[in-house]
Amino acid sequence: RKILLILGFLSTLAAIALIAVAVTQNKPLPKNVKYGIVLDAGSSHTNLYVYEWPAEKENNTGVVQQVEVCKVEGPGISGYSHATEKAGPSLAQCLRQAEEVIPSKQHQETPIYLGATAGMRLLSLENKSAADKVMSSVEKTLCSAPFSFQGARIISGQEEGAYGWITINYLLGNFKQSGWTKLLHSLKSISETSGALDLGGASTQITFVPNEVYSESPENLLYFRLYGKDYIVYTHSFLCYGKDQALQQKLARDLQTMENSSLLDPCFHQGYQRTINISELFKNPCTSAKKKQFPFSQLYIQGEGDYQKCRRSIQKLFNKTNCPYSSCSFNGIYLPPLQGDFGAFSAFYFVMNFLNLSSEQSPVPLDKVASTIESFCARPWHEVKTAYHQIKEKYLSEYCFSGAYILSLLENGYEFTEKNWHRIHFLGKIGSSDAGWTLGYMLNLTNMISAEDPAMPPLSHG
Ligand code: AMP
Repeated sequence: RKILLILGFLSTLAAIALIAVAVTQNKPLPKNVKYGIVLDAGSSHTNLYVYEWPAEKENNTGVVQQVEVCKVEGPGISGYSHATEKAGPSLAQCLRQAEEVIPSKQHQETPIYLGATAGMRLLSLENKSAADKVMSSVEKTLCSAPFSFQGARIISGQEEGAYGWITINYLLGNFKQSGWTKLLHSLKSISETSGALDLGGASTQITFVPNEVYSESPENLLYFRLYGKDYIVYTHSFLCYGKDQALQQKLARDLQTMENSSLLDPCFHQGYQRTINISELFKNPCTSAKKKQFPFSQLYIQGEGDYQKCRRSIQKLFNKTNCPYSSCSFNGIYLPPLQGDFGAFSAFYFVMNFLNLSSEQSPVPLDKVASTIESFCARPWHEVKTAYHQIKEKYLSEYCFSGAYILSLLENGYEFTEKNWHRIHFLGKIGSSDAGWTLGYMLNLTNMISAEDPAMPPLSHG
């Protein structure tokens, strides 16, 4: 019995010792994660995004997520055309923020990319040498950051459309298909992707997988093989149809028929006033064709707050008269029949979210959307300013125009109707990540989206 007691005592001691070892060894393992940085150099501002993913799972779909976003102070990099050497240094504050988020041991191995969009595409057209200097300045700053610089370039409208589409479908888990889920998806045919609608300040993109693909306009088609599946994707980017350039286009048109320098503008609230320098307005490639001599140098805008009139004036920006294809959006650009659901992000989301029209829980029908924007436009400026005093005046004064423009673009431009309106989902973030082209861009350049399905076992080991 004594021996048994001693053995029992010893085994209890051993168990305690084991637990103690287990407790001390159970400290959480250091996170084995990797990081990547992308700067979205847009027309109105630059955003820096930090992404994170588990090192051992980098080829799986859906594992990358945004852990930080930093909004660069001041204008977009194209706004530095008169002080090109200041474009790079403007990014310094956000780069320092990225240095704090990413452990210093990993700085050197963290790739950093910058993609500039339509603001820089326009500056390149207007003043190529200034655009080159701006890009050299940002490149210099990014090279001197402690990260692994992978390039700063102006991306094409097609790339912007394609990477936005990849981002939202990656985040929505639409590429996730393997084994049983793949079988289930093929049975229920729910393996569809979502289209992407992106609205910036200077350009807008529409990207989706059409039902039938005719080779009517091959330049609008992209071919992808992602996670073992082939996709034929339609995309088009409309330069000058971002919401800021659309407003400039509208004003340039309004000026054509003006006899004096005052414009009663239905797209701004009653009581709102703004002065615009006419030579500045026509410097831009989106308006320069309309340039002529005016007997005044300033344009005085007075708000009228009339939504219906505003819609009619915006509608003139979409030329629907000739279409050399079986169907078009506007300006003679091929658009196949709309297909499936669409995620609408960037300024589509900012504007619709402000107007309380982006709710997924209680989707708002098209007629209600129009009447909400109509009532908003009809509110006098002093009332709007008081009600939303916390919002930047530049944004606030343009929500009426932007709301009307978004409806015009979607209804007149792309021909969404009350029947398929519910298929548009206005989204800012998916999980913790912002919807936009940057994530898709990084996934592609770091080879994180594989062409084949990683979860499918090889057919033979021979
Ligand atoms: P970009 O700078 O080209 O990416 O374009 C972004 C567009 O969204 C610009 O027209 C900005 O003015 C606009 N924007 C950004 N944030 C907001 C916001 N909170 N409300 C309204 N518009 C916004």
